[in-house]
Amino acid sequence: MSHTKTRAGQKNILRLKYTKIDLGMQGSCQSSSLIGRVRPLFRSLEFSPVYARQCLYRGRIFLYCTPCYMSIRFTDFLVELVEIEMDVQLFARELERQHSVVRAEIAPTRHFSPDILHRTLNNILNDVDQRLVAVTMAGTSFEGETIRLIRIGKSNLSVLLWSQMHGDESTATMAIVDILRYLTMRKDDPPVRAILSSLTLHFLPMLNPDGAARCQRRTAQGIDMNRDALALQTPEARILKNLQQTLKPTFGFNLHDQELSTVGTSKELAAIALLAPAFDPLKSENDVRTRAKHLASVFAEIMKERVPGKIARYDDSFEPRAFGDNMQQWGTSTLLVESGHAMNDPQKESIRRLNFVGILSSLYAIATGAYQSFDISSYERLPFNTKKAYDVIIRNVKADYGRGRLTEVDLGVSYQIDTHSEMPPRLVDLGDLSTFVGLKEIDASGKTVPASVLFLGNAFDWEKYFS
Ligand SMILES: [Zn+2]
Repeated sequence: MSHTKTRAGQKNILRLKYTKIDLGMQGSCQSSSLIGRVRPLFRSLEFSPVYARQCLYRGRIFLYCTPCYMSIRFTDFLVELVEIEMDVQLFARELERQHSVVRAEIAPTRHFSPDILHRTLNNILNDVDQRLVAVTMAGTSFEGETIRLIRIGKSNLSVLLWSQMHGDESTATMAIVDILRYLTMRKDDPPVRAILSSLTLHFLPMLNPDGAARCQRRTAQGIDMNRDALALQTPEARILKNLQQTLKPTFGFNLHDQELSTVGTSKELAAIALLAPAFDPLKSENDVRTRAKHLASVFAEIMKERVPGKIARYDDSFEPRAFGDNMQQWGTSTLLVESGHAMNDPQKESIRRLNFVGILSSLYAIATGAYQSFDISSYERLPFNTKKAYDVIIRNVKADYGRGRLTEVDLGVSYQIDTHSEMPPRLVDLGDLSTFVGLKEIDASGKTVPASVLFLGNAFDWEKYFS
């Protein structure tokens, strides 16, 4: 199959023209994500242009008309396929379907060592053409651990994506592994071709390997790297700043996990929080930040279809020592993506999938220029994160204060230190928690506990009383 690629006059339309499709060729389904307008050259067949799904299967081309899934088999004539650029939302839906296929096995839990990550990436990238992907050493951590940089794509427009600058925040790291697997497995799919020919992507999947090895937020020096963008006292922060200065990325993705949060005044857990960081205390606007807001709007719109009401805006106060704010100041339009939480999903698999779909859709929107048409109000109208959630809420407990004094209270229990779970759980709140939501909720109506076991801030073995 040969194809020529031309920019159509119409904005943001990429056209791929297929000619002389060799119908004898063998192959499995290679273009399942290709959706386009199909016009057979065989004139005796009346076939009006349809939006169709093309599938190469066992040497035959099948065209599935998407509204009815009626298939038309082409066996002995040439077809010209004019692909109309896939809409960003349509691509996101395709990604959602593809995720279970490309999802990589990393580890049983979301806390894994740098070694495990490196082994997984090696398995994925070893057989890939080195002209497509380059794995280099960005530098070493304080304790001498290699920090890897993975480059894919060929264009002057650079995008830098960094994850796990906080060692216990690995959700986007897992998504990056899936993204790299997808980009290399599907490199011939038109949307992936559009991404890789229009952008050069630089991934730093694990910027704080020492922290990751200890499952802690801070670096081996005990420093919060995201407050070290000015002082640059950690080697990890120096690596990130140096990459910004040398690669001069137009866009940056600053990937984190956030504390258990809710969305605005609702009792919905925030699945994703977004921020186009401010570059000064006045939260001024310039081209760099506006571009980041457009990108945030793409991400928000993609999320709205998947987790409506569960998308928040991250606190937008200026933090002069943080990387997102400084990246914006240094000229890289930066989007902060905070992975949040979902019910019954302690390993954050659903949030990992949201990152996969959101990041790839955003990259596609950058590659095609479509991001510019997303109204920044989609981002600006997002409610802010609120802290109205606990890991466990035990409701309607009778606390016995002795001498017949019984008080009905709700109990809030937390398992979280920074963004990871730790034992033992602690009692963190007591009283009317009707405006709060629990990752796990227990109704303890009719149960009484001695108030002497209810010490705020202390370890609390709640299962002993309310299992
Ligand atoms: Zn973080």
